[in-house]
Amino acid sequence: SRAYKDKNVAVFGLGKSGFSTAVRLRDGAARVTVWDDNEGRRASASAAGLDVGDLVGGDWQDADYLVLSPGVPLTHPAPHPVVLKAEENGTGIIGDIEVFLNEKTAGKIVGITGTNGKSTTSSLIHHLLAASGRETALGGNIGTPVMDLPQLAGDGTYVLELSSYQLDLTPSWHGDIAVLLNITPDHLDRHGDMDGYRAVKEKIFARQTASDLAVINVDDPLCAEMALRLKTQGEARVVPLSTTRVLEDGVAVVDGVLVDHSRDGQEWTLDISGIETLRGRHNWQNAAAAVAVVRALGLTDEEIAAGLASFGGLAHRMELIRTLNGVRFVNDSKATNAEAAEKALVSYDNIHWIVGGLPKQGGIDGLADCFPRVTKAYLIGQSSDAFAAALQSRVDFVPCGDLETAVQAAAKDAFKAINEGGEAVVLLSPAAASFDQFASFEARGDAFREIVNQLDGEGA
Ligand code: ADP
Repeated sequence: SRAYKDKNVAVFGLGKSGFSTAVRLRDGAARVTVWDDNEGRRASASAAGLDVGDLVGGDWQDADYLVLSPGVPLTHPAPHPVVLKAEENGTGIIGDIEVFLNEKTAGKIVGITGTNGKSTTSSLIHHLLAASGRETALGGNIGTPVMDLPQLAGDGTYVLELSSYQLDLTPSWHGDIAVLLNITPDHLDRHGDMDGYRAVKEKIFARQTASDLAVINVDDPLCAEMALRLKTQGEARVVPLSTTRVLEDGVAVVDGVLVDHSRDGQEWTLDISGIETLRGRHNWQNAAAAVAVVRALGLTDEEIAAGLASFGGLAHRMELIRTLNGVRFVNDSKATNAEAAEKALVSYDNIHWIVGGLPKQGGIDGLADCFPRVTKAYLIGQSSDAFAAALQSRVDFVPCGDLETAVQAAAKDAFKAINEGGEAVVLLSPAAASFDQFASFEARGDAFREIVNQLDGEGA
């Protein structure tokens, strides 16, 4: 289909997704003008034969659509000048997912959103389908820009991770299956992101009908309210999720046991408590969501059980790097705040905790309930003094400065604990941003992986 043929489209922001959208639109015979504040990106666009035009300073009243890259502020902290200009001109503001949906010719759409767990759930759904030999492609807020995804056949499934920002830029969004994992108002209040909060809430289920599926975690009161409304109004077939109680018409994981009643009330149970990559209650929620989705897509009990067991997990999220002398080394570098670190701390015992970085508001004060699980803390980064004060007289700790020193010290103590007949996990879960010592949380996690892989187990 050529939904944008002969349309005037302005593309603002030439990162991976903006660039690929511009090229595809141009190849689909749209009249495309592109801009990026970065000169190098503008040069690459010119070299690819795209028309570069100043969308901030210049005049472009004739554009039918403005395609925005993720990261260009729509509202927070203030609308970007290009957004104001589009609004003034009456230009439709959209993102690459909108273009993708309008150009797509075949395939089912699964959309996943929520405050936390989007990447894990999306990856797990994709894995379950792929491992069962189904045609599937994963994109959106994760991995490949959607415009670069392969064309799937009619029975293929696109699995799209969607941030609230992306939903805002997708006015004709419709998911055959839509998943809402959670809405954490605390988290959003703190970030003042009430618009995103509302968008997540309302938009993921937009345009659904009785033949579509709405998968919703009903442990979350706001989500439960929405499930009830959708069900009462018959707008979608609702499959509820819980990690606290078995549901007669939904999917639950209680104490590590999956109980699936989503298939006409038939019961199917599976113990997933031993699956390392699905450790922790938060991951049980992600697993319940994924099972609800693939069950609706027709996967069998055997396929689901095998797929859950073979899931590799995601890097930097409670990622088991290696077990050495009985000590597990776990990379949870993605935990850039206390809320995320809590998910890891409650998932292990006898923790040798590498913590610190660029501290966020509140530091680690909120984690006091988890301190009894910590054998010793190894402090790194700028937060050292503040975190030492929080741990003082509650948890044994040692200031280490950098990550290498911390890993060496933690490993030595952990090996000793094992030798004395105990248990030990070395956990990097920083509860702080990485930017004081690393370029990103990924760089921090990669550094941890490298250091851990070089350990020779001496002192064991
Ligand atoms: P997202 O893509 O929404 O950022 P991820 O799957 O990348 O989520 O997980 C990021 C972090 O969020 C994890 O390291 C974990 O601390 C936490 N988390 C994951 N799943 C959930 C969940 N279902 N509920 C609450 N927190 C979660």
